[in-house]
Amino acid sequence: LKMQLVSPSTVVDTAIQLLCYRLESYNVQATVHRDKILPAIEADPDQLKEVLVNLMVNACEAMPGGGKIGIYERVIESPAAFRQAEIRITDNGSGIAAATAKKVFDPFFTTKEEGTGLGLSIVSRIIKEHGGHVELNSVEGRGSTFIIVLPIKGGKS
Ligand code: ADP
Ligand code: MG
Repeated sequence: LKMQLVSPSTVVDTAIQLLCYRLESYNVQATVHRDKILPAIEADPDQLKEVLVNLMVNACEAMPGGGKIGIYERVIESPAAFRQAEIRITDNGSGIAAATAKKVFDPFFTTKEEGTGLGLSIVSRIIKEHGGHVELNSVEGRGSTFIIVLPIKGGKS
């Protein structure tokens, strides 16, 4: 890991730029919702970029007829503990059945004919290496939200 101080918001913007042609070809519109840029965290920007690209590519593949990706950023302030940066990536695609949702982070689990099933296992490894965690909220037929939570360094309030 090549750790440096970086705002996750910068990485979000980079990942969207990187994917702009793919988003267009899927007829997917990605919108970022933030009040202000997230504070810098100690992170490997290339690894974080891989996380966001994996999640956005999955979102596109869950919306073959086009759709919307929403990226919601916020700081979680907790009085007694560390501040955390939260990034939610939502889509209005196929969603994931409850039984399937238990398996999506397993290596090689895929429901796609040409899938590798590695994307989300990589996502979860990278986020854990950064001291964070990833959660999934999904409603079958409605869409999915992946929630990334990362510690903010020196963030004791
Ligand atoms: P792959 O994309 O190669 O299948 P991933 O690890 O990225 O592997 O994803 C595993 C599985 O999780 C996918 O095959 C799909 O069934 C499910 N999945 C992941 N992201 C989404 C999403 N945004 N919407 C619906 N299903 C998803
Ligand atoms: Mg994938």
